[in-house]
Order: sequence, then C-alpha cells, then structure tokens
Amino acid sequence: MKNPHDPERIPIVVVGAGQAGLSVGYHLSRRGLAFQILDAGDRIGASWRSRWDSLRLFTPARYDGLDGMPFPAPPHSFPTKDQMADYLERYAERFNLPVRHGVAVTRLTRSGDEYLVEAGDRSFLAAHVVVAMANYQKPRVPSWARELGSSIVQLHSRDYRCPAQLRPGDVLLVGAGNSGSEIAMELARAGHHVWMSGRDTGHVPFRMNGLAARLFLARLVFRVVFHRLLTVDTPMGRKARQVILSQGGPLIRVRPRDLAAAGVTRVPRTAGVRDGQPLLDDGRALDVANVIFCSGFEPSCSWIDLPVFEPGGEPVQRRGVVADQPGLYFVGRQFLYAMSSTMIHGVGRDAAHVAGVIAARVAERAAAVPGSPRPAPAAVQSTTNSFAPTDVDERCGSAPSATW
Ligand SMILES: Cc1cc2nc3c(=O)[nH]c(=O)nc-3n(C[C@H](O)[C@H](O)[C@H](O)COP(=O)(O)OP(=O)(O)OC[C@H]3O[C@@H](n4cnc5c(N)ncnc54)[C@H](O)[C@@H]3O)c2cc1C
Repeated sequence: MKNPHDPERIPIVVVGAGQAGLSVGYHLSRRGLAFQILDAGDRIGASWRSRWDSLRLFTPARYDGLDGMPFPAPPHSFPTKDQMADYLERYAERFNLPVRHGVAVTRLTRSGDEYLVEAGDRSFLAAHVVVAMANYQKPRVPSWARELGSSIVQLHSRDYRCPAQLRPGDVLLVGAGNSGSEIAMELARAGHHVWMSGRDTGHVPFRMNGLAARLFLARLVFRVVFHRLLTVDTPMGRKARQVILSQGGPLIRVRPRDLAAAGVTRVPRTAGVRDGQPLLDDGRALDVANVIFCSGFEPSCSWIDLPVFEPGGEPVQRRGVVADQPGLYFVGRQFLYAMSSTMIHGVGRDAAHVAGVIAARVAERAAAVPGSPRPAPAAVQSTTNSFAPTDVDERCGSAPSATW
C-alpha cells in the first residue's frame, strides 16, 4: 500500500514559475513531455508585482514577450511591472502550464538515478530537475547596515515601493546599477537630495525611448549585442560575463547625464559606518535620513545540496546542462549562456535548449527500456492576448509613473 509520505513521482520537475520556469514549461509542452512546475509563491508574476510601484520595464514591449505569445502592447511602449505580471499569468493559462503554488523547495539531493525534491513535508522523485530562476532571490545587504543610526530609514530595493516610505531629507543609494539609477531618478523628482554610491558599470549610450532606438538601436543592443555577440561562445562574451557577474551590468535606460540633470550626486563606494552615518571610501560620512540598498541579490541556492557550484557561486554548466549531475539543469541565471539569458526576450532560447536535451534523453531512455514513457508532441498554438493591468500597491497608492 502507498504510504502518504512516499515521494510523489514526477518525470520532470521545474522549480520556479517566473518567466524562466514558464518558458521551460512551454518548450517541454511542445515536446509532449510530462512535467510539473513547483513555485513557492501563491500567484504567477509575484516577483514582478512585488517590485516598486512606478517600475516600468526598461525593455520595450516588443522584447517583453516569451516564445509563442507576443507582449500585448505597442512595441515601443514600456510596460508596467503589473502588466508584465499579468502577461505571465495569461501565458501560463494560455498554454495550460501545470503550476503547483505554495511549494517551496527546501532541499534537492540525489537518490539513486533520480533526484529527491523536498518541500517541507512533501517530496518528489524526478529523473530531471530544472532550476528555473534568476539570481535575484534574496536581498544582499552589507554587514555594516546594522551599525547605521536608528533614526535612518533603511530598506533594500526589493522592499522599496514609493517615496512615501522615506523620511524627509537626504537619501543614500548604495549601489549604482539599473535599480539604483531608476530609484534615484524617482526620489530626486520627489524632492529628495539623492547621493548614489558605487562603481560606474557603464551605460547604453542612447535614449531607449528615442527615435533611433525605435528604428534600430534597441534591436541592435538587445537582439544582436546582448543575444548574439555576448555569449559564452565568443571571447568578447566570456570577458563580459566575468565583468557582469562580478560587478553588474550596464545601465540600460537611465544615463549618467540624466542622473546629473536630476541633481543626483555620484559618490564613491560606501565602505562602512562612522558614528551611525554611512562612511564613503573617500573618508566622508554622509548625514542622510534614508539609505536604500541597491546592492543586489543572492541567488539563494543553499537548498541545492549537490556539488555543482564553483567558488563564485555559479553552477558549473554548459547552456544550462550540468554535465556532472545528469538530469540537472539551470535556466534564467545571469549570463547562463548570453547577456540576454536572464532577460525576457533571451530566456526562451536557453529554455528551448534545455527542453531539447531533456527530450533527447527521455527518447533515448524509452528506446533502451521497453515500456518507459515516450514523449508525444503536443500542439501548442501561438496567440496574442489582451489584458487588463491590475491595481497599484495600496500602501503607496501612486499610479505607475508614465514618464518612460
Ligand atoms: C528590478 C528589476 C527590473 C528588471 N527589469 C527587466 C526588464 O525591464 N526587462 C528584462 O528583460 N528583464 C528585467 N529584469 C530581469 C528579469 O527579467 C527579472 O528578474 C525576472 O523576474 C526573472 O524571472 P525568473 O523567472 O528568471 O526569476 P523570478 O522572477 O525571480 O522567479 C523565480 C520564481 O521561483 C520561485 N522560487 C524561488 N525559489 C524557490 C524555491 N526554493 N522553491 C520553489 N519556488 C522557488 C519564486 O517564487 C519565483 O516565482 C529585471 C530585474 C529586476 C530585479
């Protein structure tokens, strides 16, 4: 008799139901493979919905659709984060992707030829496991944050929603990447004096909403440079990968001159705290009322109890396939294969590759072991959906900025 605590057998488990997991699901469905997507959250699109209120994607809508379903908005517009979340929900519905919500995977180990996927008191055995999620899972905050004076409001960019959360007075943004720059612009417009500390990681040298971008430059950057040139197959791409994984990527929409025009003051790295105030590398201590950490995220992979990570924390893989652990795959991570790997327009290529490898392995096994399941190609149609954006966050109550 089956014990209710026995692991459930699922041929292919996909962990994560964001754009990476849904893309993998789409490509597995197309190949007729049986799978389940497990997600810790209670709703698709949660990672987008939880981002700050005014966030608009920095990629125009024509680069915001996943394989099989274009993003339903004018191609040069910049969707809001809630429109993106709605789009992902429609995508899962449209392609009938099997998502189980509220299943946070707590441990992944090997069990004979299979993987044991544990999620609290539930467990699953699978021949193939795809870890499908970007690196942005757990906020990274410097250890000195706890020494900041108690009157200073401190937040990570993941918890920032709108200017109303802050105290009147100056704001220090720790980290000068895309999130830091976009938040800096919003706070400067809201009347704060903004200090932005951190290394300059370069920027796209044209206006993302300008005519040249619409005509050809956006395509050149996203589809040619980020997708085709900067891959691990080119020397330029391998070099870029090292820089991006250690220092972060270039600013896409906000340019240094936009920050300067908005009155944002660029300062060196924040090195620690002196008398409760943030201390810069050049020895200055800043008298600020607020500190926002735009210092990035940890991938939070401690639940993967397998020797697959190199010292820098990235899994050792080739186009998402882990050679040392047959049946284990990654999709969605920063620069997994290309600069575009973690972006909406680029994740589908990696997902298709991984799904293709899984399909070949399943077919090989079916040929070797009589009676084992064979994939049956399913008809997956493409379509364009219309959608209604959801309401904005109640706490801050501001409509998404229409500036971009
Ligand atoms: C602020 C910000 C703005 C961005 N803007 C753009 C943009 O404009 N254009 C663009 O192309 N890209 C953008 N990106 C990059 C990328 O598109 C997003 O980060 C996107 O959310 C990545 O999707 P994902 O599916 O890879 O990962 P996530 O969206 O992080 O989804 C991962 C999913 O996995 C689940 N999960 C995590 N751990 C577990 C576990 N142990 N068990 C079960 N489930 C788990 C989570 O609940 C979540 O649903 C942006 C990123 C950030 C941070």
